Amino acid sequence: MELTDRQERILEIVKDEGPITGEQIADHLSLTRATLRPDLAILTMVGFLGARPRVGYYFTGKTGAEVPLTEIKERKVGEYQSIPVVVGESDSVYDAISAMFLEDVGTLFVVDHASRLAGVLSRKDLLRASIGKQDLESMPVSIIMTRMPNITVCTKDDLLIEAASLLIERQIDALPVVNDKDNHQYEVVGRVTKTTMTKALVDLVQSERPLGGDRS
Ligand code: ADP
Repeated sequence: MELTDRQERILEIVKDEGPITGEQIADHLSLTRATLRPDLAILTMVGFLGARPRVGYYFTGKTGAEVPLTEIKERKVGEYQSIPVVVGESDSVYDAISAMFLEDVGTLFVVDHASRLAGVLSRKDLLRASIGKQDLESMPVSIIMTRMPNITVCTKDDLLIEAASLLIERQIDALPVVNDKDNHQYEVVGRVTKTTMTKALVDLVQSERPLGGDRS
């Protein structure tokens, strides 16, 4: 809701000095109490101000800038996805562990010779494969990865909230963002993870606009 300049001024005064009477607010603005009455009624009606008899007006703490739930529901994967980190099918478990450390990610995507999605490697996949093994440099990731067609994927046009639901439902930490959903021949173009969802939450809360501000 758009407030008039005068209504914004009233809110500032009440924020700074409330509880404050209508009379005192009018004095601040060099106006009469009667002139202010419609503005005070509107601000009270929409919940920005509270009013108590014999106490006056006080600020309720509502800014009118909360991100509406509908806006959160409309966010797409493409707005938040990050860059995928991939390894080749024939790369060794040793190389995959190195890539995970160097790139600072928790999930690697595995691609075949034609750069199509072939599998996923999680931290625990690599830990499990490493326990008591000496030959990590000669063990290809293809024998330990979770492989297609059992990979849960999403596209950049999917809703972020749908991707988040998949992470919870399938009990996994990451989804590859893919192009080309035909014939299960996926090109990996991005990555969404539980961290993506945490960042989205923080971003949405921090992007709250000031009262009466531009939402574009
Ligand atoms: P961790 O195993 O380190 O806890 P995850 O919970 O992401 O990490 O992985 C659990 C299992 O699910 C692993 O075996 C992993 O290969 C597999 N996995 C991870 N992501 C996906 C995905 N997008 N689709 C299918 N399987 C996955």
